[in-house]
Amino acid sequence: MYDLLLKGATVVDPSLGLHAALDVAIERGTIATVAAAIPAQEARRVIEVPGTIITPGLIDLHAHVFEGFTRFGVNPDQGGVYAGVTTLVDAGSAGSATFEGFPRHILPHCHTEIIPFLHICQTGLATIPDIIAEGSINLDATLRTANRHKGLICGIKARMVSPALEIFGMEMARLARRAARESGIKLMVHIGDTEKRYDPTVIRRLLPLLEEGDILTHYFTANPGGVLDGNGRLVPEAWEAAKTGVWFDTAHGQANFSFDVGRRIIDQGLLPHCISTDLTVPGRLRTVHSMTEMMTRFLGLGFTLEQVVTMCTANPAKAIGAAGRLGSLAAGRQGDVSVLRVEEGDWTVYDVLGESLDRQARRSVQGAMGPAAVGMGARPGTLRGHPQELLLGLCLARANAVRARHRAAQARWPLTR
Ligand SMILES: [Zn+2]
Repeated sequence: MYDLLLKGATVVDPSLGLHAALDVAIERGTIATVAAAIPAQEARRVIEVPGTIITPGLIDLHAHVFEGFTRFGVNPDQGGVYAGVTTLVDAGSAGSATFEGFPRHILPHCHTEIIPFLHICQTGLATIPDIIAEGSINLDATLRTANRHKGLICGIKARMVSPALEIFGMEMARLARRAARESGIKLMVHIGDTEKRYDPTVIRRLLPLLEEGDILTHYFTANPGGVLDGNGRLVPEAWEAAKTGVWFDTAHGQANFSFDVGRRIIDQGLLPHCISTDLTVPGRLRTVHSMTEMMTRFLGLGFTLEQVVTMCTANPAKAIGAAGRLGSLAAGRQGDVSVLRVEEGDWTVYDVLGESLDRQARRSVQGAMGPAAVGMGARPGTLRGHPQELLLGLCLARANAVRARHRAAQARWPLTR
């Protein structure tokens, strides 16, 4: 007997080559089977979702959900399950001095799975600018924290911005890389100097430092330090990094996503691997509201629905080393699904510079469904005042596994002071 059966949708899971009218059954927090016309009497609970698409649970590879600890931390479920996203990667909101807040105060209170990166700056993003002096980085404390929370902390985050670069230069990236390697975890590097002060060719020295599996975030930034040279050509090191196996993520945020840059990169053929929001509280008011809005941007850029879904599921799952558990509807995977709707129409989406696509997005990804129809629904109106109100999503069937993982992380938090 299945615990939950979703009937009547079109399943889109490029990792399995699926794009067809199929039902999805979930049992004990895992995907039991995806098949045509599964009889309703085989499940304790049946939800009819006609006219929707079901994808593996969406993964936002770059968000900020250290709510209450940083000024711009979004409530995890607002950016997560209420918006159709089952897994959020927190991209280094916390550093070694503040990280304990995650297992103690954030993870126990949300349905969305959170996979945190640890900022190389010991105070994380509690202040902006983050790194303000040499003392902002404490390598020993970073290593201790990463070690204490093995299995929870997925990687180390560094930001190639001023004044950090003026204080440390490339040493900052090297320290972050060392912390990641010594801890046996990933490295995520933010490019794009929002202060626009540092030498833009820093990218040519940064990229050779990255190794297979490292993540470059803000691939479409128009700020100094992005991957295009003064003539709009990709720097040669970007091609080398792609060959090495570096992941290119396109976090939007408040300042680091340009359609013009994206188009130039796409035209040169070095496509991004992942889509993410870089969600923050002020960002949600001005520039980026949800993962589904990001998906709409990429449909507008000409990517197919399959490519967009891959960039929000299978690829980020691989980038965080969780491909055996997330990013696919294969039997036995964590029971994370997103129920979305693709609306045909003329939609306008903007980048951080206020530029819209000259070719309007013809399709928009939406998830808003009647909240009464499901156990855990969207909250219509939470983004009132924005056209993105329509882009609320929802996820169904949160896996018990998520809560168990979060509880385990919390249990590891040492009760001594
Ligand atoms: Zn960020």
